[in-house]
This record gives sequence, structure tokens and C-alpha cells, in this order.
Amino acid sequence: MKCDVLVLGGGGAGLCAAVVAARAGAHTVLVERHGALGGMAVAALVHSICGLYRLRSEPGAVLAHRGLPGELAARLVRAGAALGPVRCGRLDVLPHSPPGFAAVADTLASESPALETHLHTELAASHGTGRIEAVDVYCRGARATIEPGALVDASGDAILAVQAGAGTDQASATRLQRPAFIFALHTVDAAALGGDARLRLAALLAEAVHAGELESSALGAQFRPTGRGSEVYCTADLAGPEDFDPTSPVHLGALERTGRRLAVSLTAFLRAHHSAFTRAEIGAFPTRVGIRESRRVRGEITITAEAVLRGLETPDCVALGTWPMELREKPTGPRWRYPNDDRPTQIPLGALKVAGVANLWTAGRCLSCDHEAQAALRVIGTCFATGQAAGLAAAWQAAHRVLPNAADVRAQIETILGPEEGRWR
Ligand SMILES: Cc1cc2nc3c(=O)[nH]c(=O)nc-3n(C[C@H](O)[C@H](O)[C@H](O)COP(=O)(O)OP(=O)(O)OC[C@H]3O[C@@H](n4cnc5c(N)ncnc54)[C@H](O)[C@@H]3O)c2cc1C
Repeated sequence: MKCDVLVLGGGGAGLCAAVVAARAGAHTVLVERHGALGGMAVAALVHSICGLYRLRSEPGAVLAHRGLPGELAARLVRAGAALGPVRCGRLDVLPHSPPGFAAVADTLASESPALETHLHTELAASHGTGRIEAVDVYCRGARATIEPGALVDASGDAILAVQAGAGTDQASATRLQRPAFIFALHTVDAAALGGDARLRLAALLAEAVHAGELESSALGAQFRPTGRGSEVYCTADLAGPEDFDPTSPVHLGALERTGRRLAVSLTAFLRAHHSAFTRAEIGAFPTRVGIRESRRVRGEITITAEAVLRGLETPDCVALGTWPMELREKPTGPRWRYPNDDRPTQIPLGALKVAGVANLWTAGRCLSCDHEAQAALRVIGTCFATGQAAGLAAAWQAAHRVLPNAADVRAQIETILGPEEGRWR
């Protein structure tokens, strides 16, 4: 089959890319290997949307993006799938329910007649040199060939870029953002986990680790009441092997098993030792372990850590990054680095254009940036915004057979999506 735009990956970035491309009139195919859209925000049970709002010291959340990111956030709230925004220290976030996100994503995707969503479908190969002429996809052993005019790699792992022979980068095992296992607990006395109780819980886990009763990954496990009855999400950062590679099936399999083993032992320990967890049950495991960082695409422009800290300004801006660097490289917890004067990063179109492959764009956590910049730009709100920009760029390229410039993409956001709260600068 032929289509105008093919988007690989239905996470936050790919969902936004596909919806806007279809709204722009492009016949769009969204390819997702799981049975639900949402990526990490659904399958890994990530449950807060960061990077949607301006970074500001004054309270009062201000939406940072024009277009679909704000619409999607509003739809999540209206559907009861998000509660907020909520102020956490200097930052505003939108806590969401992963199942609720999946349901809203279904509705959003099915509203666009020009969008075909192919779930349970995985990329097998791409064909063409310097330009992707066709891709092969598999669903349940059946192969289909799709010939798109332009493509967006929103796979999180730069899979299309690798298939097409483009350059990618990956941090060394010691620097990669740590993976994490998030699971849901039910029947917890969530009200008893506020304030100092969190510190006491952390101390209890630390003692148990030192006494050999729990494995070391239990150190620093975070418990967040979801606001839905007695449900609590637990996030435990995991350590991969010394040569950890988040694209290795052996290492990914080991992480999944470690996460489930930890969840079972942690739940049993807390049932026995903490009054809030006496009746706790594991409510859900994630569909997949959470991977914060893997490959990054090499684009025409690479956003550096220095540019994020300075608050990059560029006339080629098509999206904004508004989250500080949240470096999760060490077991001791996150290290934060804030941009000067809380300035946003203006993301240039060139950071979404894959170098060396004429019709390939990228968005989301595998965009073109260095390791430290990715620690700021990987958050879901920024993924929505880069997805929107890449989807419109791809739709433009498919329609006009030339590359758009940043002003074309910004104009598309204004005309197709209508004015929303928020500013470019
Ligand atoms: C533990 C953890 C906690 C986090 N906490 C937060 C937080 O609190 N707030 C926040 O904003 N962000 C958080 N993040 C970061 C954020 O969740 C991700 O960076 C973001 O969701 C990435 O979105 P994406 O669309 O770029 O990629 P993904 O969500 O990874 O989506 C990629 C999609 O592509 C699909 N795919 C990949 N390869 C193929 C293929 N070959 N064929 C078909 N489909 C394919 C995948 O199945 C997936 O659905 C966290 C991440 C982790 C791991």
C-alpha cells in the first residue's frame, strides 16, 4: 500500500505526529507494536506528564505549547484521566492514569478519517538508500509493504533511523539514564503515606536492604498515591549489568525479571512490616520495563546540554522544551540542572530532521540531542510538542515534495490546530 506519512511508534510523540499529519490532510499510517497507544505513558505505567507547562518560580501553571499538546492535556482532564496541573516544588506536572491515557489516545486517533492505526504491528525492514522508498511491517507473521512519502521515527529507540542506515548515538552504560520498573499496588492506606511517612518508609527500606532482607534496587523506591481510592504506584530504579545496553534482548529480559521479582518481594516485605500495606496486593505489572534513554538520532542539528542550560533561542523553533535536566544516572537518585532564568529550549526543526535520509523525521525521546540534553527533552509534554512538529513537517514534505522550513511548520500549527493558550517564546 501507499501512504503520505508513516509514523513508527504510538507513544506520546508518535500519537501527536500521526494525529496532526492526518488533520493536515495526509493519508497517515501509525504503526505500533503494542495493543495500545501511549508508549511509556501507558505500557511502562509512567503516570505524570512533565514538560507541558512553563518553568517558572511563580505558582500558577502556564501551558507552554500551542496546538495538540494542550488539546490532549485538556481531553485527558475532561475524561477524568488526568488530575491537575499539580505543583511539585518549582515544577508543574499533570498526573495521569495510564489506562485513561490509552482510552483518550484511542478516541483521538479514531477521530481522524485520514489516520489508519496498525496495532500489533512491528517494523521489519526499510528499503532505499538516502531516502526510504518502502518499509516492511509484520503483524502476526504476515508481512505488508508500505510506501510512504515521508516518515517519522517516534520509536523511542531510533529504530527507523538504524534501519535506514542513519547515524545514531548512545551514552555509555555508566552514563545512561537508569531504567525503572513501575507497578501498581491496590488496597494500600494511601492517606497514611504523606509527609514524614515517606521518609520513614524510605528508612525502613534502607534498613531492610542493609540487613539483606531486600535487594538493593528497593533503595529509593518511590510510592505515589494516584488519588484513585487505595491505589499506589511504586517506581523502582533498576541497575543493568556493567555493559548495560537498552536495546539488548538479553538485558531487557533480565530487567523485566528483576522488576517483577523486586515487586513481589517488596510487596511481601511491606505487608509484613508497614501498617499502610497490611492488605496490599499487586494490582498490575507494566506491559514493559521503563527505559528512559537508549539510542538518539543524529539529526541535522544536535541540541547540546549547554544549549539547554543557556535557553537556546533560534528562528527555526518548532517546539519548546520546558523541563530541567533530570539526570538519573546514579542509584543515589536524580541530579537536577536548571536552565538560566528558567528559560525554555527552543527546539529547531533541524533537531527533528534525520541527517542523511531525505524523507525521515524524528520526535520524542530519540530526537537529536546529546545525553544530558535528553535528560531534559525526553519528558512527555516535550514529546507531544516534537511529535506535533515532526508530523506536520512530514505531512508538508509528502504534499509539496520539498522540505518545509520552520515557519511553514509553525504556520501549520496555527492554521490547522487553531490558536491555543501558550506562546512560542
Ligand atoms: C521509569 C520512567 C519514569 C518516567 N517518568 C516520567 C514522568 O514522570 N513524566 C514525564 O513526562 N516523563 C517521564 N518519563 C519519560 C517519558 O515517559 C518518555 O521519555 C516518553 O514517554 C517517551 O515518549 P516517546 O513517544 O518518545 O517514546 P515511547 O513512549 O517509548 O514510545 C515509543 C513507541 O514506539 C513503539 N515501537 C518501538 N519500536 C517499534 C517497532 N519496531 N515497531 C512498532 N512499534 C514500535 C513502542 O512500542 C512505543 O509504543 C519517564 C520514563 C521512564 C522510563
